[in-house]
Amino acid sequence: CGQCLAVCPTGALSEVNNVSKVWDAINSDKVVIVQTAPAVRVALGEEFGMEVGSLVTGKMVGALRRIGFDRVFDTDFAADLTIIEEASELIHRIQHGGKLPMLTSCCPAWVKFFEHQFSDMLDIPSSCKSPHEMFGALSKTYFAEKMGLKAEDIIVVSVMPCVAKKYEAARPELSEGSSSDVDIVITTRELALMIKEASIDFENLDDKEFDNPLGESTGASVIFGATGGVIEATLRTAYEFLTGKTLENVEFSSLRGMQGIKEATIDINGMSINIAVSHGLGNARHLLEKIRSGKANYHAIEIMACPGGCIGGAGQPFHHGDLSILDKRMNGLYKEDRGKTLRKSHENPMIKKLYDEFLGEPYGEKAHELLHTTYVARKKI
Ligand code: SF4
Repeated sequence: CGQCLAVCPTGALSEVNNVSKVWDAINSDKVVIVQTAPAVRVALGEEFGMEVGSLVTGKMVGALRRIGFDRVFDTDFAADLTIIEEASELIHRIQHGGKLPMLTSCCPAWVKFFEHQFSDMLDIPSSCKSPHEMFGALSKTYFAEKMGLKAEDIIVVSVMPCVAKKYEAARPELSEGSSSDVDIVITTRELALMIKEASIDFENLDDKEFDNPLGESTGASVIFGATGGVIEATLRTAYEFLTGKTLENVEFSSLRGMQGIKEATIDINGMSINIAVSHGLGNARHLLEKIRSGKANYHAIEIMACPGGCIGGAGQPFHHGDLSILDKRMNGLYKEDRGKTLRKSHENPMIKKLYDEFLGEPYGEKAHELLHTTYVARKKI
C-alpha cells in the first residue's frame, strides 16, 4: 500500500494477511490470548463508519470476546512495564557513565533501520523489548505459571497498528527455544475484517473491560501511540524515581505535536536532561548523524518510523496523508490519558504485583532475561 511504501522499510512490503491463522488458532484446543496496542483503540472505529478519533476501547474488548479469544488483555499493561524498565535503564546509564543518548526501541521499523544504517552504534538503543514482545514473554511464563499451563499450550495474538510487528515477532532474538514470545500479529484493519466476518454489530456493542492480570494500565501507557508519548511516559517515572518527589504536572507539552523533530530540556532536581523526539526515518537519520559526528548532547531520544507515531501506522485504517485524521487520533489518546485515575506507569498496581511476585527488581536479572533483547549489525542497503 502507499502508506506502507512511504513509511516502512521492513515487513510492510511483503505484508501477509494473518486472519485465517487467527481463526485456526481460535478453533484449536490451545489457550488463545489477545493483546491490543494503544493506537488501535482510536482508529478501529473508523472501519465501522464511526467518527475519526473515536475511542472504542470497551467495544473492541467486547468484539474480541465475541470472536472467541480465551483472554482479552492489553498491550498498555506491557507499555507500563516497558516504561519501568526503560526509565530504570536511563537512570542506570546516567548514574554509571553508560552510553548516552539512550534511544527508545519499541518501533521495529526503526530498530531494523539502525541495524542496517548505523550498525556502528548498536550500543545506544535501549535494550528493552517492545511492549507487545514483553507481553508475549510474560504470557508464556508468568501467566502460564498462574494458570498451570505450559508455554506451548498458549497462543499469543497481537493486534497492532503496524505491519513491521509481523517481522519483529519472527526475530530469533525474540524467541525462547522454538517458542516465539508472540505467535501471530494482525493489524487494526485485519481485526476489523475479523469483526465483519463474525457478523458482529460493532457500533452497538456494550463496553467491556480487559481481563487481568495483564489488562490494567495507566494513562502513561496510552500515550505510547502518539509521537513523543514514550519519552513523556518515561519522564513521568524517571522524575519520581530520581527525586522521590511527586510530579504534579504530568503533561510535557513541549514533547507533543506533529513537528518532525522536537527538542526539550527538562530539569530534574537541578539536573538538565536533554530530550529529542522524532517521527519519520528521514528525521531519525538526521539525529543519528548528529550523534555520530559528536554534535549532539542528548540524554534520551524517542524515534518512531511512522508519521505521528503508531497512530499513523501502516496497519491502521488508511489516512492517505491527511494530518487532520492523525491529529484526531492523537487527541483521542490524550483524552484517554486525562481520563485515567493513574497516569504514571510505576503506579499500576498489577505491575507492582508482577515485580513482587515474579520479576524481582526493575532492570534486575529476571527482567533482563525476559524483557530485554539484543541487536544485530546488518548489511547497509
Ligand atoms: Fe510500527 Fe509504530 Fe513503528 Fe509505525 S511507529 S513502524 S506503527 S511501531
